[in-house]
Amino acid sequence: MAPLTWKPDTDLRTSLLCITAMGLYLFAFASDGYHRAIAQHRVHAQLRKQFEEIQSLQVQLSEQALRDPLTGLSNRRHLDTVLAATLERCRSEGQPLSLLLLDIDHFKSINDAHGHSTGDLVLQAMAQLLLQHVRPEDAACRLGGEEFVVVLDNTPPAVAIERAQELRRAFEAQRIRAPSAELTATLSCSVAAFPDQGDTPQALIACADQAMYAAQQAGRNRVTSSARPPTEQTADSTLMA
Ligand code: GH3
Ligand code: MG
Ligand code: MG
Repeated sequence: MAPLTWKPDTDLRTSLLCITAMGLYLFAFASDGYHRAIAQHRVHAQLRKQFEEIQSLQVQLSEQALRDPLTGLSNRRHLDTVLAATLERCRSEGQPLSLLLLDIDHFKSINDAHGHSTGDLVLQAMAQLLLQHVRPEDAACRLGGEEFVVVLDNTPPAVAIERAQELRRAFEAQRIRAPSAELTATLSCSVAAFPDQGDTPQALIACADQAMYAAQQAGRNRVTSSARPPTEQTADSTLMA
């Protein structure tokens, strides 16, 4: 049997040309694929970055929706959520909860005498004071205007009254520097506690409002509560029966 031999019809030069052409084609094909993959990777990276930016903007927006822009404190909407949740937990764990309502006295006169921007500084000073005094488990909120609320987690009314007096004295002692003057201000504060004065957020706020009215009627710059018996009345607090 004759041995098998391979005799290509093309000569060596043509074969080399074909191989070179094939090689060039493969190189061009691979290079195109490589550049497409790089471009796709860049588009993916850009999309991922944009997605992360959108996510972080969403977080910022939802945080801003719960904050008062002037003071940085939680706003009324956040208070509603925090108070309902804290109250629910205190109820299920059998713990007390106290709510402080704080109102800067004659705040309109500060605006009128020194200007709205100085009024803003007083509100910011009040917010800073609250932030310095509240514990991590408490919540300090600006209810609106010159009114603030502090939710005191697991705190009985007697302790809340002491905390309110501390805040009242600290605010009274504070010298607030404004461009036109250095001024001082006072605040009135009322305390309402769960379970003694109410077992819903609305009932507690209504009770604190009533006590606030009493504080203002009695001359302001004082703490009121319907929780303490009248016999415990002190010089710097007015108590409701
Ligand atoms: P009272 O002692 O009875 O609480 O009187 P008040 O003057 O403190 O309170 P009133 O409700 O009469 O006036 C509150 C003023 O607060 C009226 C409003 O123009 C002003 N105010 C509300 N929001 C802001 C604010 O963001 N900045 C400033 N500077 N003033 C504000
Ligand atoms: Mg007020
Ligand atoms: Mg006021």
